[in-house]
Amino acid sequence: MKRKFILGVLALGMLSACGNSSTNESTSDSSKKEEQLSVVTTNSILSDMVKEIGGDEVAIHSIVPIGTDPHEHEVLPEDIKKASDADVIFYNGLNLETGGNGWFVKLMETTNKKEGTDYFSVSKAVEPLYLEGKTDASSMDPHAWLDITNGIRYVDEITEVLSKKDPDNASTYQKNEEVYVKKLQELHNEALSEFADIPQSKKLLVTSEGAFKYFSKAYGLEAAYIWEINTESQGTPDQMKQIVDKVKSSEVPVLFVETSVDHRSMERVAKETGKEIYSEIYTDSIGKPGSNGDSYFNMMKWNLDQIHEGLAGKSKTDK
Ligand SMILES: [Zn+2]
Repeated sequence: MKRKFILGVLALGMLSACGNSSTNESTSDSSKKEEQLSVVTTNSILSDMVKEIGGDEVAIHSIVPIGTDPHEHEVLPEDIKKASDADVIFYNGLNLETGGNGWFVKLMETTNKKEGTDYFSVSKAVEPLYLEGKTDASSMDPHAWLDITNGIRYVDEITEVLSKKDPDNASTYQKNEEVYVKKLQELHNEALSEFADIPQSKKLLVTSEGAFKYFSKAYGLEAAYIWEINTESQGTPDQMKQIVDKVKSSEVPVLFVETSVDHRSMERVAKETGKEIYSEIYTDSIGKPGSNGDSYFNMMKWNLDQIHEGLAGKSKTDK
């Protein structure tokens, strides 16, 4: 009996040794199956989406930190290390990180990463909108995620890529996606009717950057801004005059300012028009942990509620 047992143990040992060596030979991915998938994203909104889908199966690093503008970024040695080590990299596309100084393109070249193999645009299925008066590919407006239906397209792409990179956990990713998308879809449906009680003359969303093209198209507002995109500098005298005139000639009751921009230009608009800045809203970054907009869902909910309350309740002409 005793001898049989020892032989059995030996046989098991040999089996597992064979198993190990064949695993190591097949792909380098297999050895990571017991570990988390290493995911790098360009910004905190994408990180949050990956967290919703990947849960504990993924380790996530956002290159541009929370609260910081992702249009321009100075690539740090730490970014090169993280990108080199990543199993998969997600970027927004639509010129968010590839416009301006094109920091993301340079980072992918430096780390020798390939599109569609190592790094993926989450906005592939989005129908792009363009900067005003332009139609060329280099003038696509990046802020697609501010329409929740596009956010859902991002989530679909993330789920597909994670499932391919880590097939063992594909069913987990798909289950997580189902729950998350349902929640987002409900918020989108609420948003569709949220502004129905605001008179047309007040449906003007005034922000620093013109980040709300997709948002205002989806939810039936008009967007006005100081500068069109954050790769530009602060409001020029011309831009300041235009927005002040626009606000003065409208019945819009309040202004908004984004968390990830310099507030000084909007503060000047407030001073010159006598309209108050109602609150901070989120565009290019989620909020810090514990803040009102500390996830993609929460930032969208906060934006929708604040914009609605500001345009509906705080109107000086209603008082
Ligand atoms: Zn932006």
